[in-house]
Amino acid sequence: MSDVKDITIIGAGPTGLFAAFYAGMRGASHRLIDNLDQVGGQLTALYPEKYVFDVAGFPKILAKDLVKGMAEQGLQWKAPVHLGEKVIGLRQTQENGQPIFTVVSTAGEYAGRTVLIAGGIGAFTPRKLPLKDADQWLGKGLYDRVLNPQEFAGKRVLIVGGGDSAFDWAVNLQGIAKSIVMVHRRDGFRAHQATVNQVHALSAAGKMELRTFWELRAIGGGQRIEQVTIFNNKTKEEVTLGMDCVIPQLGFVSALGAIAEWGLDIEKGEIKVSQMMETNIPGIFAAGDIATYPGKLKLIATGVAEACIAVNHAVHFINPAAKIEPGHSSGMALFGQKDD
Ligand SMILES: Cc1cc2nc3c(=O)[nH]c(=O)nc-3n(C[C@H](O)[C@H](O)[C@H](O)COP(=O)(O)OP(=O)(O)OC[C@H]3O[C@@H](n4cnc5c(N)ncnc54)[C@H](O)[C@@H]3O)c2cc1C
Repeated sequence: MSDVKDITIIGAGPTGLFAAFYAGMRGASHRLIDNLDQVGGQLTALYPEKYVFDVAGFPKILAKDLVKGMAEQGLQWKAPVHLGEKVIGLRQTQENGQPIFTVVSTAGEYAGRTVLIAGGIGAFTPRKLPLKDADQWLGKGLYDRVLNPQEFAGKRVLIVGGGDSAFDWAVNLQGIAKSIVMVHRRDGFRAHQATVNQVHALSAAGKMELRTFWELRAIGGGQRIEQVTIFNNKTKEEVTLGMDCVIPQLGFVSALGAIAEWGLDIEKGEIKVSQMMETNIPGIFAAGDIATYPGKLKLIATGVAEACIAVNHAVHFINPAAKIEPGHSSGMALFGQKDD
């Protein structure tokens, strides 16, 4: 059992990271727990190389660079960050008439005076290839996520999928990978038309190959991937191609999991909150993509604003004498400013 923190933040996406910043600014002890092995939530897992244009202060910023800045800001207080741990349970007890929430993860138990659920679209894991034993190639050329495009430098790459991520990587690995083949089981795509057009243009120019109605049948090799067998689901033709890497981009499976069983008021997989970002359980707050209320927008900008509201109300919940208004950071001695 860990020491009791003021706020246990579930999720280290943009909302959780900004909540950590505000918690530290308000002098509230806190910790972050995330299922992924890196901070940044969807930005890190789903679109690190995409530009984001609608966060204040940055006319244009790569998602991974935004996460870098948010982590620098949010983790400056050196609060514990428990990565690779999925939250699976919650126990509520009382101490001097105040609730204590013990959040149970796959690796530990963490006690807190309040909980802020910033779980986004839930704990998500990449959808796996529908191939028996495909996982044996993980670390040997099979990548369920692309974190560093340079890993594909000079490599023959097969991308599987027809959504945004598949198309984005087909474009973003140009000039890095030696060759790119993309297979999709049908000729309809779930990607932005502009990127689809880019891929068609690259294919027409011989810079990559897009094969529709083709699926991956087998991966072969020794210590690492050396070849793949693909088949045409209409003609049943089968082809074996020399290949170094396979990147399935089949989307993510996400689930609220255990959080859905805590007695929270949940509507269509999202947690209902008040204007204070408080759930129906006093002391449990929610913010970001996972929280809903009339007029909700699921954006980074709204998530960070909700984190700010949630943390200030959590601080007031723990200590009713503490003001809800945080004051202006620009005048805080905490940041080396003089006038507070
Ligand atoms: C392709 C794409 C492009 C986008 N572009 C933009 C854009 O341009 N501008 C914009 O504003 N928004 C954009 N968004 C939306 C934006 O990414 C989300 O609104 C934002 O990520 C929400 O942040 P969050 O912290 O609330 O949730 P998330 O980013 O989903 O982070 C939640 C974190 O909680 C963790 N978690 C969940 N459940 C558990 C559990 N049980 N145990 C432990 N950890 C858990 C997850 O692992 C995750 O890391 C885009 C989204 C996508 C998919």
